[in-house]
Amino acid sequence: MLETPEDTLDPSDWNAFRLQGHRMLDDMIDYLEHLRDQPVWQPMPDEVRDSFRQALDDVPSDLAKTHELFLKDVLPYALGNVHPGFMGWVHGGGTPVGMLAEMLAGGLNANLGGRDQSPIEIERQVVQWVRRLFNFPETASGLFVTGTSMANLIGVLIARTARLGTDVRHTGIAANGQQLVAYTSAGAHISIVQAMDIAGFGSAALRMIPVDQLHQMDIAALERAIAEDKKAGMTPFFIAGTVGTVGVGAIDNLQAIAELCERESIWFHVDGAYGALAMLAPDIAPRLQGIGRADSIAFDFHKWGQVPYDAGFILVRDGELHHNAFASPAAYLKRETRGMAAGSPWPCDFGPDLSRGFRALKTWFTLKVYGEEKLGRVISNTCALAQHMKRRIEAEPQLELLAPVALNIVCFRYRSEDADRVNADLVVALQESGIAAPSTTTINGQLAIRAAIVNHRTTVSDIDALIDATLELGGIAARSACS
Ligand SMILES: *Cc1c(COP(=O)(O)O)cnc(C)c1O
Repeated sequence: MLETPEDTLDPSDWNAFRLQGHRMLDDMIDYLEHLRDQPVWQPMPDEVRDSFRQALDDVPSDLAKTHELFLKDVLPYALGNVHPGFMGWVHGGGTPVGMLAEMLAGGLNANLGGRDQSPIEIERQVVQWVRRLFNFPETASGLFVTGTSMANLIGVLIARTARLGTDVRHTGIAANGQQLVAYTSAGAHISIVQAMDIAGFGSAALRMIPVDQLHQMDIAALERAIAEDKKAGMTPFFIAGTVGTVGVGAIDNLQAIAELCERESIWFHVDGAYGALAMLAPDIAPRLQGIGRADSIAFDFHKWGQVPYDAGFILVRDGELHHNAFASPAAYLKRETRGMAAGSPWPCDFGPDLSRGFRALKTWFTLKVYGEEKLGRVISNTCALAQHMKRRIEAEPQLELLAPVALNIVCFRYRSEDADRVNADLVVALQESGIAAPSTTTINGQLAIRAAIVNHRTTVSDIDALIDATLELGGIAARSACS
């Protein structure tokens, strides 16, 4: 029996806890203030890795000691996506405001599955903001999820229910006898393939349509694939266009896809994982024309939106259909019109999760504190930096661009014999240098150095540092490849 406060998990000495808490907050603020003095990334020493492979102690440690361990063994060996030199993958930089909001959410420990509570109203306010951003109707629904991978899966599942009716939830997709097929571009993210797999259609039911020289889905090839599938007795039900492909940052022709989907009564889904928030950037938004015609849009606040991980989102034009694709009757989810069980429908009626954290809070703080205009400027700025990088590459005879720079991703390489090997070595050398962290991708069969500029902290000097280090380390990699 709990008789005294000491038996709970709360501190026995709140003042000591408060002091320690302030120290931890100060340390993290120092870390963010002085990021530039640190390497982007450094390899983890074997002793540190080994220490994590020991069993957790039976004897409790105290908070201060555990925090020291965090400072010594965890902080220095994180991936570094908060760092301005990080351009490896499409990762967001996070913000100090987002960090504080996460702390508040942790203290509140809200469960946003449902019921009548202010945190759900915050989520609804963000949903309202998202509807407006994409010019969706009031009847559209939205839901925070882990990330776009989950949002893409939810998109496929709603499209399935739209095509086969809510009975499919009981009978399964095979009962109906139709063979449903879906389409996306060869440049699409793997999570679309996974969504088709997890939803039970099988990844073979997804047609990977070739891309044109701008890396956009080839619309004529898409039309041909649909016609062939229909002729073979199959049912096209889902097309995913991409805004900002993960490889090169291409934007599909959304207007053309929207028209095709209307004509053929096919669900139009947009994977706008990082690119959809370009709606905030007045210079880029016009290139997303047609996005407002989508049936569903999947995107992340944790990439270009700079909200700390994780904060994915799905927006669905037909909110009722979205609800009917997931809502379940259960006694413990009984609704009332008054009291704590009021406020239906609840977020749990719109996706597979019942217990849900308060992702909306850090997003709400980000939108309120920084504002749309500033967030949009960050997005424009990363694209301007990509153009700067492109110009530097074009000016260096030793470097060559491997793909058009549509948004914020630059794919290039160091010219050399045995270029694939040299550039692979070069990227590892850059990462280990701690100066800059690009990654690799393959473009038309050639290995490319890929720099994805997502972080709001990245400046011209970080781009120049990457190019300068590439030239220097490229020379070394090329010489060691010949020797
Ligand atoms: C990052 C990304 C995804 C996956 O999103 P997660 O948030 O990592 O699940 C899907 N599609 C594209 C185009 C992406 O860039």
